[in-house]
Amino acid sequence: MRIAAVDVFEMTVPFSDGAEKLGAPPGRWLAFETVLVRVTTADGLTGWGEAFAYGCQASVAAAVRSMVSPLLIGRDASDPAALTLDLQRKLHIFGRYGITLFAISGADIALWDLRAKAEGVSLASLVGERQRDSVPSYASLVRYGRPDLVERFAAQAVAEGYRSVKLHEIDMDAIRAGRRGAGQNTHLTVDANCAWSLEQARVLLPQFEEVQLGWLEEPLFPPEHFDALTELASGGQVAIAAGENACTRYEFARLIRSGVTFPQPSVTKVGGVTEFTAALREAASAGKTCMPHSPYFGPGYLATVQLLAVAPGEPLLETLYVTSGGIAGLRTALPCGGAMEISTGPGIGFEPDWEVFERFAVKP
Ligand SMILES: [Mg+2]
Repeated sequence: MRIAAVDVFEMTVPFSDGAEKLGAPPGRWLAFETVLVRVTTADGLTGWGEAFAYGCQASVAAAVRSMVSPLLIGRDASDPAALTLDLQRKLHIFGRYGITLFAISGADIALWDLRAKAEGVSLASLVGERQRDSVPSYASLVRYGRPDLVERFAAQAVAEGYRSVKLHEIDMDAIRAGRRGAGQNTHLTVDANCAWSLEQARVLLPQFEEVQLGWLEEPLFPPEHFDALTELASGGQVAIAAGENACTRYEFARLIRSGVTFPQPSVTKVGGVTEFTAALREAASAGKTCMPHSPYFGPGYLATVQLLAVAPGEPLLETLYVTSGGIAGLRTALPCGGAMEISTGPGIGFEPDWEVFERFAVKP
């Protein structure tokens, strides 16, 4: 299983949030930037991974090409965890969060996919004990910034079968509109993407309680100030979720010991399958359920679905509630009626759709 090549594919894929003809403001987020990684062995086996790249695509691609790839070529791929920890050791001076770890995550997912395919088993079977054959999914709405649109799309997601809806709104009128649209019996959450200070969030807590949030995600800046999250959590009844901005099992161990109820590893950021599974173990030992971050549709999405097969507790799959202009993998299954079947085929189940690769490739 000697590694012969590491290839990097950059794509920018437009998507529709459904609001184009409804007077939604221009300049919204309407395209995914992705960096896919393919590892090929000398005997022709391939594995696929995805590195988080929203807003940092060229940098992440350069990190995979110039930092990660040279350390992998010629190495034995049979022990992904050991190889990834070696990457982490050799690259630690370039940061234990951000671009470096995103690049390592892409390679790590590819190495695990490769190993699972070599053994002819699914990633889930390789990394743990299967807890479930399907996982409930929630509709993760993009930020519309307008109450009428939030209400409309929350209602639409519920009508399509989602029993849980997440808003990315930070204005209380928009959040209340989301509750109206989703209805009283729907599990509703809000992701603020680190919008507030502790003091600002504290003032809003009673309103979040009134809207009955299942969790409040990443309310505070800076995201690594876990003591502030603990303080916020202790000041009210709203469960706090956080972790998409945390990398490695060590930061997750700290996060899991904090007042955060739902840790949220992102497989394309945290350090890949190696660190994600370590975070799952940390969460399980603390009796907490991970609610992974996965607003993507490529190998990172497929890896997340596999990892949810073995995740303890009652996790939900995040599905970005948009229509993608193209999906990089052939026959990529998406949730149906708010639930996602978990494939038992080899690896993560990614097969490139070269036509999509070609159409959305970033041309130098
Ligand atoms: Mg989030």
